Amino acid sequence: MLILDAHLDLAMNALEWNRDLTRPIHEIRERERGKTDKTDRTRGTVCLPELRRGNIGLVVATQIARYAKPTHPLGGCHSPAQAWATTQGQLAWYRAMEEAGEMVQIRNLAQLEKHLALWQTPGDTTKLPIGYILSLEGADSIVTLDHLERSHADGLRALGPAHYGPGTYAFGTDSEGSIGARGRELLMEMDRLKIILDATHLCDTSFREALDIFHGPVWASHSNARTLTPHNRQFADDQLKELFRRGAVIGAPLDAWMMIPGWIRGKTTPEATQLKLEKMVEHIDYNCQLAGNARHCGIGTDLDGGFGREQCPADLDTIADLQRLPDLFRARGYREPDIEAILHGNFLRFLREAWQGNHGG
Ligand SMILES: [Zn+2]
Repeated sequence: MLILDAHLDLAMNALEWNRDLTRPIHEIRERERGKTDKTDRTRGTVCLPELRRGNIGLVVATQIARYAKPTHPLGGCHSPAQAWATTQGQLAWYRAMEEAGEMVQIRNLAQLEKHLALWQTPGDTTKLPIGYILSLEGADSIVTLDHLERSHADGLRALGPAHYGPGTYAFGTDSEGSIGARGRELLMEMDRLKIILDATHLCDTSFREALDIFHGPVWASHSNARTLTPHNRQFADDQLKELFRRGAVIGAPLDAWMMIPGWIRGKTTPEATQLKLEKMVEHIDYNCQLAGNARHCGIGTDLDGGFGREQCPADLDTIADLQRLPDLFRARGYREPDIEAILHGNFLRFLREAWQGNHGG
């Protein structure tokens, strides 16, 4: 079954983790032996061959770079220009993948339908290019609104204004505050350019303001429910309901700390907590029950977004294991059309509506 993953930091992995994602996963892991600069060395789960093996033919792939003032709790680039340059390097990597025939950028409806036809033709998918929709996680790298227009021309189709901490255009996870004048301007320009708003990572105040100001299509690429995993990073039920009303699709992540309450990074293990892929189905089922249907749920794994096998379900070796999800949903009593909707159909419907300019409901 075709799978759409709505959140992967592919270029960040290539450039910051120095991973050649065109290579087999065992080779990528092998080359990291003995390295300690990142906590997830040798434990990566994502590469292009594994995406193909898992029939994950379409992804939303990020550009990501944070601008940090001296007081920022997490650090980052010391100027917006450096953040912009970082995202431009990431774009250059996606372009290199396109030139090599490894990936293909999807920026409009015609390209989407052509790519889906390619992947849904029976036959060998191991040589097909991975389709990607370009997104931006945290908007700090947008130096001026002119940079947003340039990014849109480069294919940028979704944008999450915030990431972790206070940002230029919104407050993100573990911070709290108003989007302010700059956030307002950014959202109005996104409306004009018809860029999808990614609500993931917005703090509660910025979330409410952003949804008031922005009138276009909204999704949440990688978020869970606060009721199941209490933390400001996840959405409260009333926020989820607001997203459903706006026609949003919520991508379910596989980052362990967002799946299990009380997870301590670097201490808790998937084995000790018996964290399995089945837990993702529970999270998705919660959202389906809250919505009263299966139309608002999708997959947004965030795999290798700064964590590896040490912080995801114990029964997942690589991202190709997502292909076990259909059976897990069947075992839970889900019917085939709903399973297809969750694994790709809902995000595809969302994109078709967004790109036809008649999104709603
Ligand atoms: Zn994220």
